Amino acid sequence: MSVLFCTSEMYPYAKSGGLGDVAQSLPEALRKKTKVYTVLPLYQTINREKFEIVYANLTFNYVLNGIEHQLDIFINKNNKYELFIYNPILCDRDGLYKDRYGDFGDNGLRFGLFSYACLETMIRLNLKIDAIHLNDWQTSLIALLAKTKYHLSQKIVLTIHNLAYQGVFEKSIMNVLELDWIECFKPEALEYHDQVNFLKAGIFYSDSVTTVSPTYAQEIQTPLFGCDLDDTLRANNYKLQGILNGVSYDTFNPKTDEMIYKNFSLQTYKEKTTNKKKVLKDIGFIESDKPLFVFIGRFTHQKGIDLLIESLNLFKDFEANLVILGSGEEHYETIFNNISVSYPNVYIKIGYDESFSRKLYAAADFLLMPSTFEPCGLNQMICMKYGTVPIVAKTGGLKDSVCDFTDVDYINLKNYKGIGITYEEHNIFWFMHSIAKALSLYGNHKKFEKISKHNMKVDNSWKNSAKEYMELYL
Ligand code: ADP
Repeated sequence: MSVLFCTSEMYPYAKSGGLGDVAQSLPEALRKKTKVYTVLPLYQTINREKFEIVYANLTFNYVLNGIEHQLDIFINKNNKYELFIYNPILCDRDGLYKDRYGDFGDNGLRFGLFSYACLETMIRLNLKIDAIHLNDWQTSLIALLAKTKYHLSQKIVLTIHNLAYQGVFEKSIMNVLELDWIECFKPEALEYHDQVNFLKAGIFYSDSVTTVSPTYAQEIQTPLFGCDLDDTLRANNYKLQGILNGVSYDTFNPKTDEMIYKNFSLQTYKEKTTNKKKVLKDIGFIESDKPLFVFIGRFTHQKGIDLLIESLNLFKDFEANLVILGSGEEHYETIFNNISVSYPNVYIKIGYDESFSRKLYAAADFLLMPSTFEPCGLNQMICMKYGTVPIVAKTGGLKDSVCDFTDVDYINLKNYKGIGITYEEHNIFWFMHSIAKALSLYGNHKKFEKISKHNMKVDNSWKNSAKEYMELYL
């Protein structure tokens, strides 16, 4: 068995969110059972020297619509199963998909070209592949190409990490990418309101479609969460299933994490407070036992940023501290920039900072995730490994990985998944109510510590989910 895993991001090379983590940790877990080749664009931001990425002695030209594109193939010197594709249109940008002015106008060409390049690389390197695993819209077109152009027999599996991003382009991209109008531009396949939709094509042409939690797999078949593709998903639901993401404990582990101030484990649990003290000092807050809440994530409506902003006015009167780390939509960044001075117990850092995020996971008592929807969510799983208690909206993968502490039978604690605070309705009342619950739980420190330690033991690794993917590849 051998798998080709195609992705537009992969930690530590390029990451904008959860896909980057999954594209690193899932292949890593699968490699314990089978051969997995990963293919990633060699973005200009990837440090070739540091990661020892070297030329693989393969360059080819691919002509699309009369334009010749040169593609150079690279590999990681330390892991020949990690492949990279370099082409200037695809790779020479300041961001992965967008810059401060918005999405790059030629993303359709960029990732269409990448899709061709993945298949061409597989064929030209003569890789013996049984299953091709695609991720999100950026690689969805591979399913269409595999079925309509290359007539491949490999099993095609598509994972939807977030249905909100679909890769919708003007229909002129059909000619740019030399796609067959008659065969592909049809309502059940690539056509979407007289435009083209890469993700929709992926759903139609793949043999199996997965998404990243069982609850999200159900939710996306409804108009409320379906992002206008719920009918497509219902029509294809015979091949749709939810497989909960895992996290890599090689990367996210308080025992070994080199980015945190003081490593700790269940045996040295007390050292968690050293991390809290250091972070408070770092951000100029007075050292205190007050509970520390954190938010880490993209500033976008999905992550509940409106609710978070609304909550600050009430939070300022609590005996607690809050640290917000994130970046994203400009209007949110502007709001956060303007308000940070008004709240003495709130610290806001705008930007993407892997090292600070780890320090926060280790230092925090509670992690806030007021998402409006959440396909899986990794933050809640990551934070639990660091003994931090998640406060989550009851949606998607959050629902599948966290239960409310008031529903727990503490005699049989080990039967439970992650424990935190959950709330059902997305509004300020229930969000503040859950923060108030957190304050009261923190007041009962023995109970808080029991939950925190339980969360450190919960197994959210890829062990079980990787098995489910293996079965799909057959
Ligand atoms: P997303 O919807 O963004 O993919 P996930 O919860 O699946 O959300 O994954 C988020 C990942 O990105 C986590 O590893 C989280 O720590 C990281 N992350 C998000 N925002 C930031 C940031 N500003 N700085 C550092 N890491 C971040």
